[in-house]
Amino acid sequence: MTVPVETRVVRALQALVRIPTVSDRDPSRVDSEAFDRLLAELARQFPLLHERLTLTIVGTHGLLFNWPGASADRPVVLMAHLDVVPVDGEAPWQHDPFGGGIHESPTGPAIWGRGTLDDKGCVAGICEAVESLLEAGHVPAQDVWLSFGCDEEVSGTAAVEAVEVLRERGITPWLVVDEGGAIASGAFPGVKPPLGVIGVTEKGTTSLELVAEGRGGHASTPARNGPTTRIARALLRIEKAPFPASAPAPTLELMRRLAPHVPLPLRPLLGRADQIAPVVTRALLAAGPEAAAMTRTTVAATTLSGSPALNVIASTAKAGLNIRVMVGDTVAGVVEHVRSAIKDDSIRIDVIESGEPSPISPMDEAFELLEDCIGEVFPEAVPTPYVMMAATDSRHFTAISEHVYRFAPFRMTKAQRQAIHSYDEHIGVADLVDGARWYQLLIERLPA
Ligand SMILES: [Zn+2]
Repeated sequence: MTVPVETRVVRALQALVRIPTVSDRDPSRVDSEAFDRLLAELARQFPLLHERLTLTIVGTHGLLFNWPGASADRPVVLMAHLDVVPVDGEAPWQHDPFGGGIHESPTGPAIWGRGTLDDKGCVAGICEAVESLLEAGHVPAQDVWLSFGCDEEVSGTAAVEAVEVLRERGITPWLVVDEGGAIASGAFPGVKPPLGVIGVTEKGTTSLELVAEGRGGHASTPARNGPTTRIARALLRIEKAPFPASAPAPTLELMRRLAPHVPLPLRPLLGRADQIAPVVTRALLAAGPEAAAMTRTTVAATTLSGSPALNVIASTAKAGLNIRVMVGDTVAGVVEHVRSAIKDDSIRIDVIESGEPSPISPMDEAFELLEDCIGEVFPEAVPTPYVMMAATDSRHFTAISEHVYRFAPFRMTKAQRQAIHSYDEHIGVADLVDGARWYQLLIERLPA
């Protein structure tokens, strides 16, 4: 007797959540035995998938499965990641973050714990879809690849390796789907229906360090324009020179699709958002830091260092800048902008981390397939493209595919979205089951 779908995917996610696969930039601090157990648990929960699909291990514990379809012309990659961020011991979780228990939530019974939404829910949903289809004897119309990274949260290399494996085999995915957007309710004030937001690009993450050097010395005899002062002045000048803002095409399309659902007076305006881009841009800039970040490259001053003692003048002062590069800008352009903003050639600019924005994936056939599946499983939702602010493993896949989309097929309230990387992360039981159904439908509807 086969286990009813509802039971298996729920039980599987509970089991995965109970294994704390926390990743860390320092490999010696990773509990590699936990990852071993997670892979064993996955094989126990989804035996057919593990029996029929070919597995390549990438990185330490990353999985790349291949499920041959009737055709290899338009291969599809379904992505998720097995690792999670740590739990802050002080955070007021209502239920054990690694308990995987089912508890009441404002939207009904939910599975509680770290990774339920980010991103073990996707792992369970994808595996459930494949397992069910294998049980039914389904052969997908196209080759299906499952790529599950083990170090997404620490910008690791498992996904990079997966891309290398696919590139060596000459595979150009027709469609890549990773985490990112969701069926998001409460995203815009005054908009009733949830939005099915599909990330069509993501900002690049780049870190710079400003370094000012000087003589230092005794604090009793300060000279003007020491390293600390020059760093402070540079930071003020950077804040006064924001990057030029403009609402990119996906944001304008989002506005246009929202139009029928906003309060009446706003409808005509949003309806022609693409014709009045400068007005939309100004409105977003005025609507607070979150909305403003949708329109341009942002710079945040983060780490600061200088003198180690109150009576010592620093001989070196440094400031870290964390920069999210908007599609249309480049890392080289960002460094140039910072250099001209600070107007101080004595300050060195070191590029610590360089991440370009991802190209915009088109809204063609592949995008429409995602929209159709959203329409079927979540008829209440308005599907729309958007620009993602956060980074996902899928950015590496833009090297081999033009069609990279970031969407997790789960209903998420605002509170649920805020729980990601925070506390009280949970996914509705019914929402998990519907998400698995969405993945199944996607595979069933792959074009011949
Ligand atoms: Zn994630």
